[in-house]
Amino acid sequence: MVWGMDSSIDEAVTPDAGAGAGSGPAAGGGPGGAVGGRGALAPVSLSPSRAGDFMQCPLLYRFRVIDRLPEKPSEAATRGTLVHAVLERLFDAPAGERTAPRAKALIPGQWDRLRESRPELTELFADDPEGERLAGWLAEAERLVERWFTLEDPTRLEPAERELFVETELDSGLRLRGIIDRVDVAPTGEVRIVDYKTGKAPRPEYAEGALFQMKFYALVVWRLKGVVPRRLQLVYLGSGDVLTYDPVPADLERVERRLHALWEAIRQATESGDWRPRPTKLCGWCDHRAHCPEFGGTPPPYPLPVRAPGSRAE
Ligand code: SF4
Repeated sequence: MVWGMDSSIDEAVTPDAGAGAGSGPAAGGGPGGAVGGRGALAPVSLSPSRAGDFMQCPLLYRFRVIDRLPEKPSEAATRGTLVHAVLERLFDAPAGERTAPRAKALIPGQWDRLRESRPELTELFADDPEGERLAGWLAEAERLVERWFTLEDPTRLEPAERELFVETELDSGLRLRGIIDRVDVAPTGEVRIVDYKTGKAPRPEYAEGALFQMKFYALVVWRLKGVVPRRLQLVYLGSGDVLTYDPVPADLERVERRLHALWEAIRQATESGDWRPRPTKLCGWCDHRAHCPEFGGTPPPYPLPVRAPGSRAE
């Protein structure tokens, strides 16, 4: 079990690496137990994002986790990363100096750091020689950062953790992992998990989907620390809303059962190679339409061995 910091989340390993690790589904007969061709990647763990991918479209999950097809950086996602970095770094300053001007002043430096660590991001504004789009993009990042100060007061917060990498293995062997934006711990020991969203809050009928990620994290924290987080808090910088939920153990047990069912479906698809496309309006944002049968495309050859229908795993 891990309660520590990490900057990356790998949800798939080369079969050799998974077997060598000697833990988790890769070594224990889960999807990672498959032996694929060179470079083939089999899933060994779940994060909220990838669980969401599979629920949205199994084929999208395959493209991202198994084939690891490249995706173009998007302005919105990159701005989200930038704003997250700024909000994280602001807490380096003494409480009294965590002001909106100081936070906005962090943006240029964090943008430079981001481009240094991910050179492919320079292509985002390659067709913007005058820098007009970039200026507008940065101005929107400033607005999002400013809005945060209307929702929370960082001078009164002292996070226990920021950008916290968490990982745990359930009794079933399913490994869950993710990165939590912020963890606050009250003097009483009560834990609050906070996630920043640079988009708008969902309509109430879609709130459950938004909370899934938070309950996932709450389950991981519960399993790691033996404490059910007192509060889950989603901070929507795009619309200026805060969505909170106070979970009880039964909520998290439901999420655990749902994740087991999801993982079983992923295991079966990994072994059979049967990854169905599930078209929705979200396809408009999918980078893989050229490979998707729903859009006249053909997926790349499946890189993992396929188990014949009806045959049993050893
Ligand atoms: S285009 Fe739509 S159906 Fe096809 S892989 Fe992407 S999300 Fe799935």
